[in-house]
Amino acid sequence: MVISVHQWFKTMPTLAEKKTARPAPRTAARPRPELIFGDFWEFDPAPETADPKIKPRYDLFIGGRMVAPTSGRYFDSINPANEQKLTELALGNATDVDLACQAASRAFEKWGKLPGKERGKYIYRIARLLQDRAREFAVAETRDNGKPIRETRDFDVPMAAAHFFYHAGWADKLDYVAPGRRLAPLGVVGQVIPWNFPLLMLSWKIAPALAAGNCVVIKPATNTPLTAVKLAEIFQDADLPPGVVNIVTGSGSTGGALMAHPATVKIAFTGSTEVGKVIMRSVADTDKKMTMELGGKAANIVFDDAPIDQAVEGIVNGIFFNQGQVCCAGSRLLVHEPVAEKVVSKLKNRLRVLRVGDPLDKNTDVGAIVSRDQLDTVKGYLDSGVQEGAEMWQPSCRLPAKGFYLPPTIFTGVTQSHRIAREEIFGPVLSIITFRTVDEAIEKANNTAYGLSAGVWTDKGSRILKMSTELKAGVVWANTFNKFDPTSPFGGYKESGFGREGGRQGLLDYAKLV
Ligand code: NAD
Repeated sequence: MVISVHQWFKTMPTLAEKKTARPAPRTAARPRPELIFGDFWEFDPAPETADPKIKPRYDLFIGGRMVAPTSGRYFDSINPANEQKLTELALGNATDVDLACQAASRAFEKWGKLPGKERGKYIYRIARLLQDRAREFAVAETRDNGKPIRETRDFDVPMAAAHFFYHAGWADKLDYVAPGRRLAPLGVVGQVIPWNFPLLMLSWKIAPALAAGNCVVIKPATNTPLTAVKLAEIFQDADLPPGVVNIVTGSGSTGGALMAHPATVKIAFTGSTEVGKVIMRSVADTDKKMTMELGGKAANIVFDDAPIDQAVEGIVNGIFFNQGQVCCAGSRLLVHEPVAEKVVSKLKNRLRVLRVGDPLDKNTDVGAIVSRDQLDTVKGYLDSGVQEGAEMWQPSCRLPAKGFYLPPTIFTGVTQSHRIAREEIFGPVLSIITFRTVDEAIEKANNTAYGLSAGVWTDKGSRILKMSTELKAGVVWANTFNKFDPTSPFGGYKESGFGREGGRQGLLDYAKLV
């Protein structure tokens, strides 16, 4: 059985508990609610009412205090669902980055020597405070990013807390990360993150760095800085010593200043391959330790012996979760020729009932694209797909008059040379390609510059083993897609980057062995 991505990270009931929790089988009188990512029996039609407590203006978080940017300049954060201004944020520059790095260096003198058990207490406290304010953070994230409230409420925020919990647990067990060796912190870590999972990426980055004894300066994405500055409130409430985490909002050049700053002995970047390469060139002359989590163009591969209905749910989850703005999205569907027609027909039926619209509505399946620029980029790919000869299909749906929306889109008749099959679109767009043999599926799946993730749908265990060995991807999901866990390392091959985040391997990237 495929467990939904939302159900999976929750408090994991036993199988027996799950069975008793399920209602009686569906009947005609109890129609199936149109949900894709949540479990059907958890359907809750009440509107989300939590107050996201958004202030009109946010400063930088440096040395444990909110401080105005030295330039005195601020930029607007826009709600992509209605194009209205949400708040304004400090535009940090190189001087602010320098101040933040100085604060982090000072803090490291004590934090780096604190017993792991003590560090762990702070990280546990952060996790619990985030849980306490989970609904507020979910609404704030949905407003800032445009992703459906069901996703922020059931995935982004609880998963972010899970990362703090998981890494808090490691803080006093670092001797067991690499048996026989001692793990020492690196110092000040510079981190830059993207806009697709703003709070979750923050926690992926900050939690392991702190657990290993480092201090952090982090630059959130320009489009989605809100939950980062709200997290600063939690760091204050947790009494995290001043300077252990510093948050500098701003533009790409703010991120550039941070990556190149001499105090950052380790840099961790999550974002596009293009910007990742710019950063790597800019620090090529240094001995900074690096982690690069970059783009992807994953193949989701469906064989003719797969449970087709489950596979269709997996295809939908794989590419329409978070409007397809997911680095490991299953944006290329490779489907076995004997079942291609059936899969596409079922997929179209499924897409016809997805609800596109207001992300704060709990019934919404597909929310808003993060920005007008990103919407235009994605539309450019739709034009390119049509011009290059692929056939585009969208369900008919009424989009809100304001906001950056796009219906879920599929392309059939796609060849490997089409741009929509080669480039990362980062939107709700699926390119469908067929194959005849296992070897052809592997060859087509690997025919990409990226290597972040892949999915395989088949009834045969031996085929899963063969595919997971031969697919050049950091993560290979079998009969499921988009499953994440703080305990498992995540990262890519080829142009999808290097280094790992999560699990024991992720911790090792934030420490040195002595
Ligand atoms: P982006 O590369 O445009 O920006 C990422 C971050 O880098 C932002 O904070 C941005 O302000 C900053 N930045 C821009 N120019 C910079 C520079 N010259 N120096 C330093 N920082 C700079 O990416 P995005 O559009 O925010 O996010 C989408 C991309 O992120 C996609 O390619 C996606 O695949 C990737 N991503 C990868 C992972 C992963 O784990 N591999 C996870 C999420 C997103």
